[in-house]
Amino acid sequence: MFGDLISDILSEEHKLLRETVRKFVKERIAPVASEIDEKDEFPENLFKEMAGLGFTGILVPEEYGGFGDDLLSAVIVLEEISRESASLALSLLAHSVLCAHPIMRFGNEKQKKKYLPKLASGEIIGGLAITEPDAGSDTASIKTIAKEKTDRFIICGSKIFITNGSIADVLILYAKTSPEKERKGISAFIYETKSPGFSVSKKFEKIGMRGSPTAGLFFENSPCSKENLLGEKDKGFDILVKCFEVERITIAAISTGIAISALEWQIGHSRERKQFGAPIGNFEMIQQKIADDSANLEVIRTYLYLLAKNYDFKKDNRIETATVKLLAGELGVKASLDAIQILGGYGYTKEYPVERYLRDAKLMDIGAGTAEIMRYIIARVLLKKYIF
Ligand SMILES: Cc1cc2nc3c(=O)[nH]c(=O)nc-3n(C[C@H](O)[C@H](O)[C@H](O)COP(=O)(O)OP(=O)(O)OC[C@H]3O[C@@H](n4cnc5c(N)ncnc54)[C@H](O)[C@@H]3O)c2cc1C
Repeated sequence: MFGDLISDILSEEHKLLRETVRKFVKERIAPVASEIDEKDEFPENLFKEMAGLGFTGILVPEEYGGFGDDLLSAVIVLEEISRESASLALSLLAHSVLCAHPIMRFGNEKQKKKYLPKLASGEIIGGLAITEPDAGSDTASIKTIAKEKTDRFIICGSKIFITNGSIADVLILYAKTSPEKERKGISAFIYETKSPGFSVSKKFEKIGMRGSPTAGLFFENSPCSKENLLGEKDKGFDILVKCFEVERITIAAISTGIAISALEWQIGHSRERKQFGAPIGNFEMIQQKIADDSANLEVIRTYLYLLAKNYDFKKDNRIETATVKLLAGELGVKASLDAIQILGGYGYTKEYPVERYLRDAKLMDIGAGTAEIMRYIIARVLLKKYIF
């Protein structure tokens, strides 16, 4: 039966988790989702409530106070939250997937014990700082420097478009420790934003994902203890590439969450709205939009759930993760646009959430690697790997 494949992938625990998140989203997020967007203020109270339910501990093993290292659970939580507020899901993703997860995978025991319980409980907020004003898609070209001293690194440089940048206590920060070695001279750090020399340069006014703060950051001779080097010196690019895989899977969950809600609006409105004496759902051009978006959603979402369930961190998953991020990202945008079209004039107003879905969905074509870069990765890996 349609929809059953996903149910087959989920365990009883996953289904229970989905119901718990769904209830919380309906009761606590749905009533304020438009307000979060309108005010563009980070909903700290909701974040704390999510922490109380353990959602900030997704991808953190139980021994460190988390929910468990289960990617499918993370996908479920992020998808459900995104059905009402993609921006809240994005901030949660930056916290858990982009900050806690790299520490869990690449941190030493001391680092894990120091940071993971606090991140899992929401006592501190996390983020990830890669992008710079002159280094976006080309991550290897970052210019931020980390100069090695006896007991510390001194960070100099700037970052841009950092989710949670203005509210984060801890960042996974990428900087060059051996600039002459280019990508092989990048290191990853667990950087505490209370360090001297750190400042937030700018909070960006965005078209979507409002309520999830996006900031520019400055590091002016800012110290970072040697104990906070994540993994080995000059091996940061390997961490970055590996963590992008998990980021792309979870970003896809935000897109499918938006697409589900957009499709629900398409169907609901097509049933109720009458023109020419009949529900508009009777018209084939409306049916085509619903059918295409539903078909794509079913296939992409099933692929996403299977990928999350079977994800093996030790393998090379670049094609699979780029594929799901690309297709889910484009579906989120298309389903939102179709919802606007089906709602007609109503869809073009701010009285309905579908215009917000579109503004939010568009980020997933850009962040964590643009749609063009996803295509580039897929083609490049295939061209190197396979001879047809
Ligand atoms: C709301 C928001 C939140 C973000 N959060 C974070 C975060 O938490 N941490 C972080 O580090 N970054 C974050 N980013 C940054 C994001 O990852 C980058 O914006 C993204 O990687 C693209 O980089 P860019 O903006 O510099 O675009 P560019 O790299 O300058 O790209 C511009 C255009 O050129 C295209 N292009 C570039 N190279 C190629 C190529 N080889 N082939 C074909 N086309 C190409 C791109 O696809 C794009 O269309 C965020 C961005 C936004 C908007």
